[in-house]
Amino acid sequence: MRIWMVSRRRCNFVLWCVLVGLALLGASGRPPETSPVISYVTAGSVVVIDAGHGGPDSGAIGANGTLEKDISLALSQKLAKELIQQGCIVICVRDTDTDLAGADFSGTVRERKRADLQARADLANRNQADLFVSVHLNADPSPKWSGAQTFYEQGDETGACIGKAVQEQLKSTLKNTRREALAADGYFLMSAASMPTIIVEAGFLSNPEEEKLLQDEDYQQQVAGAIARGIVDGLKEQAGGSVSIDAE
Ligand SMILES: [Zn+2]
Repeated sequence: MRIWMVSRRRCNFVLWCVLVGLALLGASGRPPETSPVISYVTAGSVVVIDAGHGGPDSGAIGANGTLEKDISLALSQKLAKELIQQGCIVICVRDTDTDLAGADFSGTVRERKRADLQARADLANRNQADLFVSVHLNADPSPKWSGAQTFYEQGDETGACIGKAVQEQLKSTLKNTRREALAADGYFLMSAASMPTIIVEAGFLSNPEEEKLLQDEDYQQQVAGAIARGIVDGLKEQAGGSVSIDAE
């Protein structure tokens, strides 16, 4: 059913992402780690997962040299797997170490960054995504800060609902912050994307302990699972608490 919907409504890239996700599931050799309960709300919801940075743009650099672009990609791939298990149609902005400005882009670094972000938003807009999730890691000159935080666009009711649900799941799962989800204003990516958009700053690479955690596959899985549960919670709340069905 999902494949039919993809081929009719979406581009081949979406199908590729779904197949990659299914391959990842099969490659794990383990049964799904989340309950096989698919709700009417998440089934068929189109979610774009944006692994922040990539290619020449490394993003933040951790206390011990970890690159944000590598951790954002690892988290995004795990998040894709989680959301596919929930029946979402997932579009991955990138699956390799690259940006979206184009290999032959010849502008300044600033212009390249703008083109990259615009291309990410364009991908989501073209595919009429229901939600855009951008995954990042934080950094600060001081190593003392740690913990995850989620942002949504000022004035976007759906984004606020989903962003708050994601932050609640991150708080209860990781137990590393008391921060609340925050409204953001003036983010280029949020303005360029025409659907509800959330930005998840999954932790501080500038904190050596958190940097080490964020490199750990099991911890990455916890983060991805929390984000996915928050997205599902938020989508359900927006839909008025749809009844879930057991897929088994
Ligand atoms: Zn970033």
